[in-house]
Amino acid sequence: HTKSKGINNYLFYAKSMHSAVLEILTLENDLHRALERNELVLYYQPKVNAATRIITGMEALIRWNHPEKGLIPPMQFIPIAETSGLIMPIGEFVIRTVCRQIQTWQKAGYKPINVALNVSTHQFKKQDLAGIIKAALQDTMISPNCLGLEITESAIMGNSETERQTLTELNDLGIGLAIDDFGTGYSSLSYLKQLPLDYLKIDKSFIDDVVSDSRDQAIVRATIVMAHGLNMKTIAEGVETEAQLTFLQTHGCDEIQGYLFSRPLPADQIQGIAQHTLRKGG
Ligand code: C2E
Ligand code: MG
Ligand code: MG
Ligand code: MG
Repeated sequence: HTKSKGINNYLFYAKSMHSAVLEILTLENDLHRALERNELVLYYQPKVNAATRIITGMEALIRWNHPEKGLIPPMQFIPIAETSGLIMPIGEFVIRTVCRQIQTWQKAGYKPINVALNVSTHQFKKQDLAGIIKAALQDTMISPNCLGLEITESAIMGNSETERQTLTELNDLGIGLAIDDFGTGYSSLSYLKQLPLDYLKIDKSFIDDVVSDSRDQAIVRATIVMAHGLNMKTIAEGVETEAQLTFLQTHGCDEIQGYLFSRPLPADQIQGIAQHTLRKGG
């Protein structure tokens, strides 16, 4: 009896494994065509000053508008894009789209706004990131100050000279650099000291219970103090409640981002929300 149960479990497992693999292969196949068919879109989520609630910038977040499956979140296809190498053309698409969006907002007469985009580990290590960004900046004639990059700890902390040079080159251009999901990867404090970073982005997992959990409070407070001591700014991600915002304000967190202020939205919807700070330039 136990044996047959074991076999049944095995068959069930093998079946679900099989369909999971099939699902990934199908998605990978579809993803090849997604770029040509314009199925990849960028949503934008505002970042606001924690004290004044004035918008300081945006983060671009990719979505896949799949013809049958609907809107697919990045966590379901970015890993596939990474293993298949498709992350390179997708990454370039994100850079070019963000630069064009900044240009569009400027042409509409809005004040320059900083837009940060996410860079994946593969993209950071393998792609000529600085070259691609320079070309996109030239084509759109936007200022490098309007562009930001969010790179995860694991991508940034590799001890490679080329990666350090890439960061230095981007920083010299005037592009804002942030460590994303800070505190969840393998951070080395000696790298933090050496690298030309502008922002530490405190991961949502520390923010979720920050109002009630004294350990999260200790981590968040220490991160803010350390960042400021290293001449970096802090931004907290995933802020959903006024109580979380109050805690962050009290401890000097510079900026916040989260559903409390706005969800990520398509570019045309963002303009309405941001009107009071995306003021017409003089
Ligand atoms: P991330 O860069 O840490 O982005 C934050 C994620 O938290 C986003 O999920 C955002 O929609 C979500 N979020 C923001 N505020 C809140 C909140 O208050 N509550 C909750 N529950 N969630 C919130 P999203 O858009 O699904 O993106 C997930 C991850 O996918 C990103 O994490 C980033 O690592 C990656 N990603 C997104 N766009 C790109 C891209 O263009 N290129 C690459 N390489 N990765 C991307
Ligand atoms: Mg990010
Ligand atoms: Mg993040
Ligand atoms: Mg995160």
